Amino acid sequence: MPTYDENDLATQAPTEAPRTESVSQNTLPIPGESDDGPIEVPATRSSISEAHKYMHNLSVSPSMKERRGSRNSFGTALPIPRSKRQSRLSSVAYADGRPSRPGMPPIQPTRELLASQIQDMSAEKVTKAKDMAFVFDIDGVLVHGDRLIPEGKRTLEILNGDNELGIKIPHIFLTNGSGKPEAPRCEQLSKILGNPISTEQFIQSHTPMSALAEYYKTVLIVGGEGYRCREVAEQYGFKDIVVPNDIVAWDPTIAPYRVFTAEERASSRPRDFSQTNIEAIMVFSDSRDYATDMQIIMDLLRSENGRLGTMAKDPVSQRIPIYFSQGDLLCPSEHWTPRMSQGAFRIGLEAMYRALTGVDLERVVYGKPELATYKYADEVIASWMEVIHNEEKLPKNIYMIGDNPASDIVGGNMYGWNTCLVRTGVYQGEGNDDDNPASVGVFPNVLEAIKTAIKRELGEEFKFEFDEKINPVLHGDRSSAAAIE
Ligand SMILES: [Mg+2]
Repeated sequence: MPTYDENDLATQAPTEAPRTESVSQNTLPIPGESDDGPIEVPATRSSISEAHKYMHNLSVSPSMKERRGSRNSFGTALPIPRSKRQSRLSSVAYADGRPSRPGMPPIQPTRELLASQIQDMSAEKVTKAKDMAFVFDIDGVLVHGDRLIPEGKRTLEILNGDNELGIKIPHIFLTNGSGKPEAPRCEQLSKILGNPISTEQFIQSHTPMSALAEYYKTVLIVGGEGYRCREVAEQYGFKDIVVPNDIVAWDPTIAPYRVFTAEERASSRPRDFSQTNIEAIMVFSDSRDYATDMQIIMDLLRSENGRLGTMAKDPVSQRIPIYFSQGDLLCPSEHWTPRMSQGAFRIGLEAMYRALTGVDLERVVYGKPELATYKYADEVIASWMEVIHNEEKLPKNIYMIGDNPASDIVGGNMYGWNTCLVRTGVYQGEGNDDDNPASVGVFPNVLEAIKTAIKRELGEEFKFEFDEKINPVLHGDRSSAAAIE
């Protein structure tokens, strides 16, 4: 029979701390302090959490190779689409065969002509303008949720051609946001920002995960509101998509605390999951029900090759891979302090997995600041260059504009981009961030950041306005003017 030894009982004896008046008013009473209160029984285990023994270091190990344990997964490799995602699906052609310009305002012949004349005469500046690009984080830089940050609108106007050259300065959007398809998200942002935003210049945390559709047939997609992430996965080309509700509808006992509504049952797609191998788990967005999602994920990770109703004999070789679309621990919201995000959910799973199996969970995390996401951004910038300037090339001077030193800035710095930190979002510190300083500097808002970057590349005198009344003939040299006439 187990017995308690001296040490067990002796731990955590409350010590009498010196008290001041003001502290004692706000201090909870310690059980057993008063003679007539409840009886104090010492704890038999330490009051300090044991999480450390279940945790493993995330991305700091110099060699990630040894982490590759499962035959099923890519280990340290994160597949991204090769290039030209969606193969210009969002482009539509005019009746006369001219391609439309996704994300661009309708063509205004006079202005276009005028701008091209001015660009003809400023070849050097034009080259420089095409050799720079901006990558914007969205939340905390251009918008707060559904609210516009006023300088965001003006920023995009300048980059869409309201500048002295009338030229489009390449820019894309790179967000750790998730949970709905790219098209409606771009539509919503276009409205808020009063500038067109194309799906072809837009990367959410799960966008590069479309590459995974080539590798796995049946996948569990976790997170997001309702069935929006099922929709996202369908658009990415996943063939057989399962969401947790499908599994709960098949066997409600799998999630004992879940209250499953009739409506949820009707909209789910149950099948006999004891006959299906789920090949991979993809957390696309924040879980709306940690208890159910964690239980189902854990059941699958511990199963034989993703077959519910089985238990793997070897937790490593029979384990299916799990992917997370991003790793942010916290996410700002209307609440006074940031709310837990996918990173917190993942760490919970890792600790549970370790506690239940004794081995570390192998997993892949996409999103900023992961290298794969930045490499994918390069592909998107080059391909967007072709859309706006007919040259599929990667500009040399890329500027990341973000509000979060721990994702936007550290990722940009590691990737060799110029980085600008803005103060309209999570970063509120004095001066530059100590741990991950932005290479170009800290700015009160996005407009100041892009103006500084453009002046660095195109000269201090560069004007942030297109002059409709300008007469290019009077501004160029004679030979160029003659050619236009
Ligand atoms: Mg942000």
